[in-house]
Amino acid sequence: MARAELMDFDEALEKFEPVIGLEVHIELNTKTKMFSAAANPANTENHDAEPNTLVAPVDMGLPGSMPAVNAEAIRKSITLGLALGCSIAPSSRFARKNYFYPDLGKNYQISQYDEPIAFEGSVEVDLGDGETVVVPIERAHMEEDAGKLTHMGGAAGRIQGASSSLVDYNRAGVPLVEIVTHPIFGAEHRAPELAKAYLATIRDIAIATGISEARMERGNVRCDANVSLRPRGTEKLGTRTETKNVNSMRSVERAVRYEIQRQAVILASGGTITQETRHWHEDTGETSPGRPKSDADDYRYFPEPDLLPVAPSEELIEELRAALPEAPAVRRRRLKAEWDFTDLELQDVVNGGLLNEVEATVAAGAAPQTARKWWTGEITRVANAQEREPAALVAPEQVASLQKLIDDGTLTDKLARQVLEGVIAGEGTPQEVVDARGLAVVSDDGALIAAIDDALAAQPDVLEKIRGGKVQAAGAIIGAVMKAMKGQADAARVRELILERA
Ligand code: ADP
Ligand code: MG
Repeated sequence: MARAELMDFDEALEKFEPVIGLEVHIELNTKTKMFSAAANPANTENHDAEPNTLVAPVDMGLPGSMPAVNAEAIRKSITLGLALGCSIAPSSRFARKNYFYPDLGKNYQISQYDEPIAFEGSVEVDLGDGETVVVPIERAHMEEDAGKLTHMGGAAGRIQGASSSLVDYNRAGVPLVEIVTHPIFGAEHRAPELAKAYLATIRDIAIATGISEARMERGNVRCDANVSLRPRGTEKLGTRTETKNVNSMRSVERAVRYEIQRQAVILASGGTITQETRHWHEDTGETSPGRPKSDADDYRYFPEPDLLPVAPSEELIEELRAALPEAPAVRRRRLKAEWDFTDLELQDVVNGGLLNEVEATVAAGAAPQTARKWWTGEITRVANAQEREPAALVAPEQVASLQKLIDDGTLTDKLARQVLEGVIAGEGTPQEVVDARGLAVVSDDGALIAAIDDALAAQPDVLEKIRGGKVQAAGAIIGAVMKAMKGQADAARVRELILERA
């Protein structure tokens, strides 16, 4: 449906209540794959490997090959389950999900079906302006990723119109955890935002626990967004669509919003929603039909006969629980209070992905507000211009020592920006840049007085005005002195001296 045909979002919300359900796949950053000793490409170390070079017989489903469970993947899955507030099953097992696709050499995917390793939890999601929503988690189960198909000759890499397809089995067997929410009610007009914030929270949890590199652009985190509408005042859930592989936070928000507006048009005109998967198109901002998907799709699941049940000991679970980091939402709340930030100030830092940087800068001695301003202001500006990450430009300790030079009067804000530029260019620490470039404020009153006397002599009319009580006329002299000092003077001190001299 073209965007022009969509129902207005607010009108759609008046007529219908949106219900969403999110399925997030996370690639674990283990050294090796889920069931084989092949190196894991979801790990930066192996990420750039040539196609089909990280493949063991098990990943290809070659005759006689036998899977063995990766203990590191189990530990990381349990850690993730615990971080999602889930119960960990004392015993869970793998199942075969049978279907054919060229990226699946074995003709079945090993997954967990009726016995997931983690179940029934919840995640607190912060919408950024102080409102939080508790998202109920149904399950988090382990499975293996499939290989990757690249379609050649068609438009935008799609299979439609392609003349050939390439298969890369490097990704086959990469350990995945799929996190499935219960249907989420009550988000109303914030449902699209919630989908985005939920994905961000899951990513933050994955990074904080160290279970995944969680690089969205590499597909380490992938989201399927289920959306349905029900008429206001009715109980029965509407038919859902499942928009597959929406792989950026912005896209998931847009895709949910689009589906709400699209389904509203169909339902309002008496039509019915087809239960199906849909594709998201980043360029047009639309979804299009994928394949019909009924709840009774039969994958002939049966217990995987080549693997034992996973039965983690109580000690292991408690050891992993004790090692859990602070939950992202809790950490934000704590830092916001410690730093005395407004919602907007904290949101700025979080949206810029700069929480760690600001925290480290404060730890190195800077006041929270100045740390925030450096990172979300000048450093972000330079990073955008250079198309780099702010954190890659300068270390938090250097930002703190730069601020110290302002606080002790060595630098003005303007000079400090020049020093920052030097630090980013690799000229050394802030103090070294100040020394090498001769950027310190001129604090020698003698030099300032000489420049003031010159300026007053050159502008006798201004001198008269000042003497006549028009103190604001001093501005012209301050300007001349700052120019003579190449900006390296403290304007307040210059002003004091002018009034003394006039
Ligand atoms: P599937 O096999 O179709 O992927 P899952 O159980 O893995 O099924 O995931 C389905 C997701 O859709 C869950 O997050 C679930 O809460 C959600 N869901 C189920 N019914 C609805 C509905 N009517 N509207 C919105 N979301 C739904
Ligand atoms: Mg699913």
